[in-house]
Amino acid sequence: MCGIVGYIGDRQAAPVLLDGLEKLEYRGYDSAGVAVADGNGNITIVRAKGRLSSLSEKTDGGKALKGCCGIGHTRWATHGEPSECNAHPHFNDEQTLAAVHNGIIENYTELKQKLLRRGYNFYSQTDTEVATKLVDYYYKKHKDPVKAIANFILRVKGSYALAVLFKELPGRIYAVRKDSPMIVGVCGNDAFIASDVPAILKYTKSVYYTGNAEIVCLSVGTACFFNLDGETIDKSPVEIKWSAEAAEKGGYEHFMLKEMHEQPEVVKDTLAAYLFGSEIKFPNTSLDEEMLGKIGSIVVVACGSAYHAGLAAQYVIENFARLPVRVELASEFRYRAPVAYKNCLVVAISQSGETADTLAALREAKRLGMRTLAIVNVVGSSIAREADDVLYTRAGPEIAVATTKAYSAQLIVGYLLAIKLAAVRGTMTKERKDELVAELLLIPDKIRSILLNKENIQRFASEAANKKNVFFIGRGVDYAVSVEGSLKLKEISYIHSEAYAAGELKHGTISLIEDGTLVLGIMMQRRLLEKTLSNLVETKSRGAFVAALTYEGNDKADPDADVKLVVPPTDDMFAASLAVIPLQLFAYYLSVLKGNDVDKPRNLAKSVTVE
Ligand code: GLU
Repeated sequence: MCGIVGYIGDRQAAPVLLDGLEKLEYRGYDSAGVAVADGNGNITIVRAKGRLSSLSEKTDGGKALKGCCGIGHTRWATHGEPSECNAHPHFNDEQTLAAVHNGIIENYTELKQKLLRRGYNFYSQTDTEVATKLVDYYYKKHKDPVKAIANFILRVKGSYALAVLFKELPGRIYAVRKDSPMIVGVCGNDAFIASDVPAILKYTKSVYYTGNAEIVCLSVGTACFFNLDGETIDKSPVEIKWSAEAAEKGGYEHFMLKEMHEQPEVVKDTLAAYLFGSEIKFPNTSLDEEMLGKIGSIVVVACGSAYHAGLAAQYVIENFARLPVRVELASEFRYRAPVAYKNCLVVAISQSGETADTLAALREAKRLGMRTLAIVNVVGSSIAREADDVLYTRAGPEIAVATTKAYSAQLIVGYLLAIKLAAVRGTMTKERKDELVAELLLIPDKIRSILLNKENIQRFASEAANKKNVFFIGRGVDYAVSVEGSLKLKEISYIHSEAYAAGELKHGTISLIEDGTLVLGIMMQRRLLEKTLSNLVETKSRGAFVAALTYEGNDKADPDADVKLVVPPTDDMFAASLAVIPLQLFAYYLSVLKGNDVDKPRNLAKSVTVE
């Protein structure tokens, strides 16, 4: 969460910072600010509550601020309300040092007391002001920025990406991170730091990933890295394959709409990465047949939609490979003293590869001696680097806060893993495997055909616009996709919704069904069609307005459903990949109808790097 950008070079810094922050606004958007050093020893800070556009207006698109060195921030408040006063950057008391921060300083109260005793004053409610003044304290003590930051690292508990300007050190930006992302890019005389790649893609695709507690010093055209002892560290840049256009809207009204339309390509690219003819291989990993054959069980750890992708994978892996799978919310796994099973593979799923809870769960699994595999989208991210193996999704940059294409790509990796495990374990015939692989290759076109008929969903969304409560029900994989559909709806339309395993409704939740309550039944599992239909009819008998989402040619729901939505047929186990598309579109159109900010829903931010 929160976006940080830093720039030093020959250009005027403020417009570059605003441009970079715009690319990172998906990470936080309750206030924003920039600090620019003018080269004569003056640091000017401008901050504004609300969206980045307010800051842009206040600074005339950055033109009002002169100077070629600066740092910027777009905030997702954790400590202190979203206000101009709490917005970053923060100053020290003499306004000779300015800092921006992403994350949480957990021991900020104790540190604040210490600093108050030393005569420091505080104007904001943030932990970041404490961090700023702590760096100032150590800088005054040691007169050395690297030593000051090293002391800060040793003293502070929590997670942070921190960037600092010192008035006495014009032409330099110092930065450090721990468990919050930060990348560095250098191109000619331009040098950047940023929370994520899209902020600097326009200038360079060559990126340095900073490790925990590595201190960065940026100056014109150079980036130097130091360890805690102040010794220099050699680092090599990584080439990013994403294009700058991939992080633009490309003519679509919203990033979410664009990203939904990218799903056929994303699925195709992700399949292409691991399919060699009809053989599934995981190159550059240790996931060979011998290793996969030893796996006795799987625990998936993830949050949000990635957790839902894991839920679908659970059904598919158990079905294909006859291997026990358990899916856990990473935030629960990390604190519940999990038991380390022998030969258990822990699979961490995360779009950004920086999700704090998932990273912590991965570390807990490693601490317990379990083998780990990451399924992530961002090359070089923390989860990718710390896991024993990585399978990358090929979703490209995802900007809309509500994930669509990354989820679809995660599903695909789950299917491939399931089929491969089944092949290795001998639980699937070669014919069945080939049939499934052939079906996987059809998924991109099937998704495309659903997107082409999106007007049906738009019409359905306008019928549902006044609903206060929506229920999604399904069984098996249909349940897994219900949960994702319900989350999409909540995230961006703000309509209350629940997803229920269809068989569970009668054990309590059915009491919430009233006249006109929308109940959307997902009916893609051929074996379970009648079962889910019975549950739908039970709600209709109690006044529900019933919609059925099923595959073309299935007319079982016809007499009972008030609305029928169809997608092309596919294998039951791959149903989530198709059923999710109308559900995404449904949430999208409702959000648009309600006039919500689709890409930046209230209170949310992408890449949740705090607990
Ligand atoms: N904890 C800091 C604050 O509330 C930083 C939050 C962020 O990452 O945006 O200001």
